[in-house]
Amino acid sequence: MAAKFPRMGRTFARFTLAATVVAAPLLTTSVGGAHASAVSCSSSTPVSSRPSLKVGDTGSCVTYLQTLLRNAKFITASPDGSYGPVTAAGAVQAVSEAYRVLRRDGTTTTATWAVLEKINKPFDKYTCGNGSSNKVLLVFDDQPVSTTSYRALIDAARAGRYGIGIAPNGEHVKSGLVDVKAARDRGLLVVDHTYHHYPLTTLSSEQVVWEITRSYVGSNYVRPPYGDENSRIRAILAQYGKNDCLWNVDPQDWKRVGRPLPLEVPDHRITPSQVADYIVGHAWGGSTVVVHMNHLGTDARQLARIDEGLRARGLMLCRNWGRASNPSMPNQYCL
Ligand SMILES: [Zn+2]
Repeated sequence: MAAKFPRMGRTFARFTLAATVVAAPLLTTSVGGAHASAVSCSSSTPVSSRPSLKVGDTGSCVTYLQTLLRNAKFITASPDGSYGPVTAAGAVQAVSEAYRVLRRDGTTTTATWAVLEKINKPFDKYTCGNGSSNKVLLVFDDQPVSTTSYRALIDAARAGRYGIGIAPNGEHVKSGLVDVKAARDRGLLVVDHTYHHYPLTTLSSEQVVWEITRSYVGSNYVRPPYGDENSRIRAILAQYGKNDCLWNVDPQDWKRVGRPLPLEVPDHRITPSQVADYIVGHAWGGSTVVVHMNHLGTDARQLARIDEGLRARGLMLCRNWGRASNPSMPNQYCL
């Protein structure tokens, strides 16, 4: 892991030299590393009592910080209590960018501690990564009508800095219709909607495992098709480290006028703008909405319309990550 990051010896050497010159008269008041290693941290230490941390610090607060970073999937190494470049540039900086913490130089401040505690809150299957109290998470399921339509949706999300979710089926990623890397590059949440679109409770456990472990989407968030799950499915998801991602607002953009027709045939009961109006009128802060790439997702302009409508109610759409999102995501994508 450490080999991934450029060696910064020369830069550090220059900093060290400068620090020697200016820091000498301040030694008696300097608290830096000594302060950090003297304080002990655990989950019960109030965020406001935890020290600021930077490269070179050691001790239990660094160990606890690394534990939080690891739980939030920003670091894979076991905590070693030493604040090195991997912790700083590889993880703390990433958290700061993703969740828009003001200080983004790899140091850990009170704001960083607060974000880490929030994003590690237990996963709630009905909010599916929306840990906010005033934002609404839209997760778009299934398959887009075209690659152009898909690009328009994820580009509009990025341009408006909206944090939406994309939940494609693996077969549509395999076919090239959905580019999950492009969604992650735009800071979006990618959710695995299984390879096919079978109701999971009708499958054998072996088949369920196959459906959730194909590598095409590769997310630790899984949305069972039709929301069809039970204790057996939940146990399999947990066994494979997958979050069971449902919703609590359904504008029913999937409903058809007549008998099921091929998805390309436009016979939906309501239009994308009617879906947008429903969301604006019915979603609440911290809620998660199920919508579909082949319906609401065909009109990317609706994102701005929904955000504006929500703002009139004191709410807004989830904010985009300020950097590319990861295949393995923390319990809360949206704060
Ligand atoms: Zn679906």
